[in-house]
Amino acid sequence: MEFEEKRKNLVESLKKRNILTEPKVIKAMLKVPRHKFLAEGAISSAYIDSPLSIGMSQTISAPHMNAMMCELLKLKEGDKVLEIGTGSGYHAALCAEIIAPNNSQNPGHVYTIERHLELADSAKTRLKYAGYGDSVTVINGDGTLGYPQEAPYDKILVTASSPKKVPPPLKEQLKDGGILCIPAGSKEWGQDLYVISKKGKDFNYEKITGVRFVPLIGKYGFD
Ligand code: SAM
Repeated sequence: MEFEEKRKNLVESLKKRNILTEPKVIKAMLKVPRHKFLAEGAISSAYIDSPLSIGMSQTISAPHMNAMMCELLKLKEGDKVLEIGTGSGYHAALCAEIIAPNNSQNPGHVYTIERHLELADSAKTRLKYAGYGDSVTVINGDGTLGYPQEAPYDKILVTASSPKKVPPPLKEQLKDGGILCIPAGSKEWGQDLYVISKKGKDFNYEKITGVRFVPLIGKYGFD
């Protein structure tokens, strides 16, 4: 079966499970080639709803988690997005497809931070090769510090699990009215996915579901 057909089947199954409902996110999931963000040995599993190894003991999240986070963030054209945990670059590409589609009059931008230089470099190459070189900037560093150079952000997504206390720089760098989506809890087990909305100086926390992510390592993360 061709990649496009496999991708279509995956999207249909996520729609049936009610994980994928938002037309903009459906369109992006149908378009972004997940197989182009994987190493040779993992390509045949690209359209299975499962996390996969990307090297450096890290993973690309399962597609249902990418879809869920994109929907929870209420991404829209023109948004300035910060992602912590670039990994393969796939989730950044999905966000870019939604906030800066082709021929957009008001393109947004994705800034994405990865602590492993090797992953940051390969994600940069893959994003360029897949056509997202202009809408995504990859930064190598500690994402728990955020990226103050481009703050404030409309949306922030964290794709590694934070300690219960969410890194303060991320809350500070969120725009008034902005949304932060982050898994938080213990380093190994017992994490929950939160949607945090900022209103003035107040933050509203909504617990969405139990999840399992690799740990967020850094100054405001785990050791
Ligand atoms: N979003 C990624 C994708 O689409 O492939 C998957 C991310 S993977 C589940 C989590 C990533 O977070 C790993 O690549 C890990 O190295 C990275 N990470 C962990 N702590 C970090 C930190 N403080 N700053 C930046 N990246 C971090």
